[in-house]
Parts: sequence; C-alpha cells; structure tokens
Amino acid sequence: MNRFQPLTYPLAALLAEPVGSERAYGVSGVTIPLPDDLRLAAAIEGTVVVARTNRGVLVDSRLATALAGTCSRCLREIEIPLDLRIREEVLPSLDLATGQPLDRSGEPDVARLTDHHELELEPLVAEAISLAEPIAPLCEPACPGLCVVCGERLGPGHADHPEDDIDPRLAALRAFRVDGDAENG
Ligand SMILES: [Zn+2]
Ligand SMILES: [Zn+2]
Repeated sequence: MNRFQPLTYPLAALLAEPVGSERAYGVSGVTIPLPDDLRLAAAIEGTVVVARTNRGVLVDSRLATALAGTCSRCLREIEIPLDLRIREEVLPSLDLATGQPLDRSGEPDVARLTDHHELELEPLVAEAISLAEPIAPLCEPACPGLCVVCGERLGPGHADHPEDDIDPRLAALRAFRVDGDAENG
C-alpha cells in the first residue's frame, strides 16, 4: 500500500500478472472529505481486494464507518453506522503494452486507474457513503420523538402535562398528528 496517500494503490505490478492474480489491502484509521455536508463520525476500516481481470481489475471492498447525523424524530445527534460494499471493475487509462492512452469513448462512465496505474479508491468510497446515507435516520427504532407541548424528547425523563397546560393550537396539532399516524398505518 502507498503509505503517503490513503486509499491509493499502485497496481502496475498486478497488471503485469495473469488474470485472477490478487492483492489484498487493509484499510485502517482512514478519513476522507465528503460532499453534501456529510461528516464522518468514525474512521474507515476494512479490506480492499483487487483482482486482475482480462480488461483491468475487479475491486471488491468491504468497509465500515459511521456518519454524524441527527435523529429525524427527536433531533438528537447520533452516529449512523454504515457497512459499505464496493464491487466494481476499474479499467486502465493507458495501454499496458504501448503506454498510449486508451480510447474511453465507448465506456465514458467506467472507473479508470490513473495514468500511473494507481487505483484511487477515495471517490468510490465517497460515493458509496453518499448512497448509503439513510434519508430519515433514527436514534433507535422506537424513538418516541418530541413532545408537542414542551418540545422535549418523549420517553423516560419526560413528565406528562396536565391538560390545562396545553395550548389549544398545540392540542389541535397533536390531534392532527395522531390522525396522520393512523393514516400511515
Ligand atoms: Zn430520536
Ligand atoms: Zn412535554
């Protein structure tokens, strides 16, 4: 593994080997920048196995990390664990025999090794994390959400309110929410 650039793997030697040859790398303690205000709550850990195919390499990576997020019901800050599987064929940019650039027009969207036959896994990992981000994460499956009267989190530690305390407008809102829940099954 290249010790200076995390998630970058020089593969020139592997590309000279027969189809089926493999390299395995460990990933430990790696953090990467993420798009869309996503933030890692834990380092990336796991394995990357790269196997020679007839056209390039097949990357098979299993990684674990966590995103920093907010519970969509009670708004607590939470860590969202992610298990990522990246399985993708990556093709060379240069012809191995001649060193000349390969024609990419037939497959413009396929992932490519660099001009130095390096696999740069970081963009694939960033994409996998973006795709794995849950739309409505919860701190726990049965998160009770927020009290419509006081705004505190329901559940242990939240005391019931006497009916007198309830603002009529909030009472109407609460009734509405109950109806909404019933509709959604
Ligand atoms: Zn919650
Ligand atoms: Zn309350």
